[in-house]
Amino acid sequence: MDLILIGPPGAGKGTQARWLVERLGVPQISTGDLLRAARQAGTELGRRSGVYMSQGSLVPDDLVLELVAERLQQPDCEKGFLLDGFPRTIPQAEALDAELRAYRRKVEFVVALEVPDESVVKRLSGRRTCGTCGRIWQLAFDPPPSPDKCACGGALVQRDDDKEETIRNRLRVYHEQTSPLLAYYERKGVLRRVPGDGKPEDVRRGVFAALGLK
Ligand code: AMP
Repeated sequence: MDLILIGPPGAGKGTQARWLVERLGVPQISTGDLLRAARQAGTELGRRSGVYMSQGSLVPDDLVLELVAERLQQPDCEKGFLLDGFPRTIPQAEALDAELRAYRRKVEFVVALEVPDESVVKRLSGRRTCGTCGRIWQLAFDPPPSPDKCACGGALVQRDDDKEETIRNRLRVYHEQTSPLLAYYERKGVLRRVPGDGKPEDVRRGVFAALGLK
């Protein structure tokens, strides 16, 4: 299955993606994670992306496309993939379609998680990620054993773009540049809208049902 998860920042894409890849056995490709890794590794691409990311703006399409094209060519993507956080613009979606067409593949489903802006701001300001196992916690709704420690014992960190002002910019960017993708995929008949403003388990049921999975 070639799948895409779309939603505003903080919609729970990462959490749902983990459940989906476990169920489907396909790799999760998160452009946000790939870019953060490139930044941490101090590569040229990471350095060029950093300025945009810390402001909550989108990294230019050519940089992201290079990263994704390279990742999709890895052997683990042969049986399918789950894209999380990509595409985020119409040119990215068109480039993805062209790339897949070259392999006689196409996007089968696009799951759109729908969450109101105010919930996004609340969720993101309380989001913490474990530096060791990658588990994502939510201080109010899905609290870790202690505010700075994961169940695995790892230290929890707040992403530098999860500050209120940056969150508002990321939301603006989502509405202006990413939400037009919903109509793009709706026209292709592959869009599945799922309410994302509930408990992660309830959202998971909605996502699985939308894809015909148990
Ligand atoms: P995320 O973890 O998906 O929220 O992404 C974090 C940041 O990485 C975004 O705010 C963007 O700056 C950048 N980013 C991630 N994916 C993309 C993409 N597909 N296109 C452009 N920028 C991206």
